[in-house]
Amino acid sequence: MSSSGAFFYEIGKWVIEKGGCVFGVKFDDNMKAIHAKAENINELKTFLGSKYVQSDKDSIWLSVKNELKKKRLVLFSGTPCEIGALRNYLQKDYENLILIDFICMGVPSPMILRKHLDDIEKKYKSKIATLSFRSKKYGANSHSLSIKFSNGKEYFRALYAEPYIKSFHSCISLRESCHNCCYKKSHRESDITMADFWGINTTNIKLSITNGISMIIIHSPTGKIIFDNIASCFDYEQSSIDVAQSVQPMLTSSCNPSKDRNAFFEDFNQRKNHQSFKEISHKYVPISKQNIMRSKIKEIGFIRQFIQKTKGN
Ligand SMILES: Cc1cc2nc3c(=O)[nH]c(=O)nc-3n(C[C@H](O)[C@H](O)[C@H](O)COP(=O)(O)OP(=O)(O)OC[C@H]3O[C@@H](n4cnc5c(N)ncnc54)[C@H](O)[C@@H]3O)c2cc1C
Repeated sequence: MSSSGAFFYEIGKWVIEKGGCVFGVKFDDNMKAIHAKAENINELKTFLGSKYVQSDKDSIWLSVKNELKKKRLVLFSGTPCEIGALRNYLQKDYENLILIDFICMGVPSPMILRKHLDDIEKKYKSKIATLSFRSKKYGANSHSLSIKFSNGKEYFRALYAEPYIKSFHSCISLRESCHNCCYKKSHRESDITMADFWGINTTNIKLSITNGISMIIIHSPTGKIIFDNIASCFDYEQSSIDVAQSVQPMLTSSCNPSKDRNAFFEDFNQRKNHQSFKEISHKYVPISKQNIMRSKIKEIGFIRQFIQKTKGN
């Protein structure tokens, strides 16, 4: 259920077992990404998996402050700028607060995701029951949009063949501020930074990547104490910040906006001829036959590998 190596689940579980609470992002019943509080493991599980969209915060900052004042252990997870926002709001350090962010490419506009989901619900004539951006159906390190509908139908498209994911990766649908993010730095305001360990094959680290693998960067003494407490849950190797930087440019740099970003948003704002998300995105980020072939080849390759492994066992 986790995006990469499930580091977040283990730290969340540790906090809950200590009587604390965890703040993270889940989808509500209408598939709107919201920041919420988890008091138990079942609620914690709703936070697993990256939601590639900006979350709604509502009164979350106040809720965090109330829990801190009660002297409970509080874990808050969010984008680097959300960690900065919480710190600004609290105006002081709390010993009972743990802050976790991630290496963040940027967050797309919720309006864009809503439009795409509305179109898909219309096409499948059913409400969405569950949604995952990081289904591990065809391998742990794939980006895909996997949707299950209330009527039992399913929608599955991998990275190159899914218009929302492709627009996200093309840097056309992100918030404007994400292209000039002041929170991109190797030393962060959080205690720990999580990331996908893309490019691990180019390093000397020899760990199994079959089920997903996280990169963890510890920034503070609190982060180190917590890591030491849960380290026995993981297979891990220690490395240097230089290795992290070499495979993760997003640690310190913002991605450049697509040259078509303004035109893309303009089309959505004008809702030109009631065009669907797919039609608008196709204009700027077309999905070619090669893209579809490429994602099919990946699926077939994964199934082949799976069959070979099963035969080997
Ligand atoms: C918008 C976005 C952009 C990202 N960009 C990159 C990137 O460029 N490079 C990279 O290596 N990793 C990126 N990640 C992080 C990565 O995908 C994993 O979330 C991270 O590696 C943690 O993996 P995990 O298996 O431990 O977490 P999981 O078990 O999957 O837990 C997900 C965690 O992310 C939080 N979360 C999910 N969606 C949101 C959201 N919309 N806003 C705030 N918090 C959220 C949850 O609360 C939870 O703490 C991004 C994540 C998001 C949400």
